[in-house]
Amino acid sequence: MNSLAEIGRVLRANQRFAILSHVRPDGDALGSQLALGLSLEQLGKEVAIWNEDGMLDKYSFMAGAERLSRPPSEPQDFDVAVALDTATQNRLGTAAAAIRTAKTWVNIDHHPSNPRYGDLVFIDPVAPATGQILFDLMCAAEMPVDPAIAENLFVAISTDTGSFQYPNTTARTFEIGAELIRRGANVGRLSQLLYESYPLRRVELLRDLLSTMRIAAHGQVASFSLSLELAAKLGVKPEDNEGLIDHLRAIHGVVVAVFFEELLEGKVRVSMRSKSDAADVCAICERFGGGGHKLAAGARVRGTLPEVEQRVLAAICDVIDCNS
Ligand code: 5GP
Ligand code: MN
Repeated sequence: MNSLAEIGRVLRANQRFAILSHVRPDGDALGSQLALGLSLEQLGKEVAIWNEDGMLDKYSFMAGAERLSRPPSEPQDFDVAVALDTATQNRLGTAAAAIRTAKTWVNIDHHPSNPRYGDLVFIDPVAPATGQILFDLMCAAEMPVDPAIAENLFVAISTDTGSFQYPNTTARTFEIGAELIRRGANVGRLSQLLYESYPLRRVELLRDLLSTMRIAAHGQVASFSLSLELAAKLGVKPEDNEGLIDHLRAIHGVVVAVFFEELLEGKVRVSMRSKSDAADVCAICERFGGGGHKLAAGARVRGTLPEVEQRVLAAICDVIDCNS
């Protein structure tokens, strides 16, 4: 592993950058990409900020959002390509194919399962968000953190910590949050945009999902499922799903929450959350070719919705004591 100071020196010494993150980006991915991209631009660098899915509508309020786009079909050359918040290289999707050459690949992430790909690597599995690591990087390298960058880092950290609630939230996270507020992040405004501006169809989706809710293992496992048919009926976008699983995790007694989403290509996206270190959902998802964190993980599993539900729920029962 490399130090943040070392990575900072490489960032300062180069000129052309591609800032990338994972498919189906979340607030940490997008906020981290924009924050690092804007900070490098202020240092006079040429910066491309690419993501397979581009900017999502619901995050389009973020400062500099117009700078983030889908990758071009014609690959380009860079001095440095940076992968942020991306547990495996193939989760960069089409964004990786747009890099014809990069002298140096940098990998900055907080997923414990990250295999440490790239030339310069900084993985902190204890950091609750990639945005938190970037704040430390920017301090170590004396990079600009103006109000726009502070807002993006705040969004990254707020969304990956469930608004500073999850167990990986530490005193340091609050200290960085406070520093970002001092540097111009407006908590009330950002929280309203993030958590109180959902499209009505997301709540209609939640209503229909709750009617598919299944409780197993004497109340320790809760799941619901989104079929392609229901998604088409409501006109849902993939981004509408983010966070809905929290309603299952929030149930008293539930240890593992699971969200099954039928995909077009004969696969099911499985999203898992745990409330206990004893139920490591990353380990469960790894059995299905996925990964993530101990308490939040996912996988894409081949099969029909009922098949995948049955296999995954059985695998959860192998891990937690379903008879208690
Ligand atoms: P979510 O459930 O929000 O999609 O993802 C939760 C966590 O699991 C994220 O940290 C994400 O990186 C990881 N994750 C989700 N889906 C996959 C997957 O298909 N493969 C891997 N390796 N990780 C995933
Ligand atoms: Mn993250």
